[in-house]
Amino acid sequence: MEKVIIIRYCELYLKGKNRGFFERIFAINIEKALKGIKHELHRQSGRYLLEGFFEDDISLILSKLNKVFGIHTLSVAYKVPSELKNIYEVAELVCPSSGTFKVETHRADKKFPLNSMQISAELGGMLLDYYKDLSVDIHEPQFVVNVDVRENGTTLVFGEFLKGAGGMPVGTAGKGLLLISGGIDSPVAGHMIAKRGMSIDCIHFHSYPYTNMQAREKVIELAKILSEYTCGTTVHIVKVTHIQEEIHKKCNGEYMVTLLRRFMMRIAEKIADSCGAQCLITGESLGQVASQTVEGMTSSNSVIEHLPVLRPLCGFDKNEIIDRSKEIGTYETSIQPYEDCCTVFLPKHPVTRPKLSDVLAEESKLDVQALVDEAMSTLEIVKL
Ligand code: ATP
Ligand code: MG
Repeated sequence: MEKVIIIRYCELYLKGKNRGFFERIFAINIEKALKGIKHELHRQSGRYLLEGFFEDDISLILSKLNKVFGIHTLSVAYKVPSELKNIYEVAELVCPSSGTFKVETHRADKKFPLNSMQISAELGGMLLDYYKDLSVDIHEPQFVVNVDVRENGTTLVFGEFLKGAGGMPVGTAGKGLLLISGGIDSPVAGHMIAKRGMSIDCIHFHSYPYTNMQAREKVIELAKILSEYTCGTTVHIVKVTHIQEEIHKKCNGEYMVTLLRRFMMRIAEKIADSCGAQCLITGESLGQVASQTVEGMTSSNSVIEHLPVLRPLCGFDKNEIIDRSKEIGTYETSIQPYEDCCTVFLPKHPVTRPKLSDVLAEESKLDVQALVDEAMSTLEIVKL
């Protein structure tokens, strides 16, 4: 008897032409996640069936599928020829030996001699005879044995519905450029937006030699972890050392982070345009640190020419963000102690609620265009 995996997606958003587009991308993403693992993927009315894999690979397959957005629930099922004897044989394997249960049957094959009520009753009776500590509870069973008699002469029998990653398939909601720092927050922000179906490219700014190569490796490692959810990603790496040196030399030090943020936004928007990203994404959370006030955001937003900036973590507490980073697997890497460029030349008292007119006055001491162009010329691209 063969094991298969039933993959269900949330159908809520699927209407008309939308459906074909969604299903095509969904299937491509599943194939990408399972690359190198033997399997066959088949679509069947409102769900997918994964077959032809080695039983030993099941937990590996499930761990890969757990990172595919758009999957609502999963079940590992037995697939048998549609005869009561076969169905019973596997129902016995699926069902626990004690506790309360019920059998729920769905019959698509109207030629099967029993209707769904009769199948449930027959199987329930057989299981009760076999497992003496089992009893039926129709309303609140501890366990449900699900039986799905399909039209093609086979029946699927399964117990649990495992929770999938949820969300929408990556690639169904355009593309965004994530400003990724090496901290805890930005990878979580990228994960949240990817969950809503957006493809993600990353941009990272470094201040080599003030920041070291390990800091860079750390960011690439974070992007790699993120890329398991985003079906790959590209990291754009830009050096902002000279920009920081110039700010340090010519401007009031309290504006270091505020001014640097504006440069980051300008450069990020240019890179977004060149890679087809339709928005910027940051890991800012309101009030978390001095630079993340609404005044700070006003200052960094005002250099953006046309793209929206998504800040999905704005309403989250730090501990909520930490919990998420542990769940998605980025936490351990994020807490490695390598310097981010924002900590270089960090003033003792950064301005927390910068007035835009003061920011502009400080910035006027710099040749903004030349510094942006110079930074753009340092661009390196790493494809993951
Ligand atoms: P994170 O944990 O993501 O570093 P944070 O709470 O430490 O966030 P900041 O360091 O102030 O906050 O950064 C705020 C946001 O600015 C980051 O979430 C990220 O989106 C962006 N950012 C900061 N530093 C960099 C960098 N070196 N490269 C790219 N983006 C950055
Ligand atoms: Mg940081």
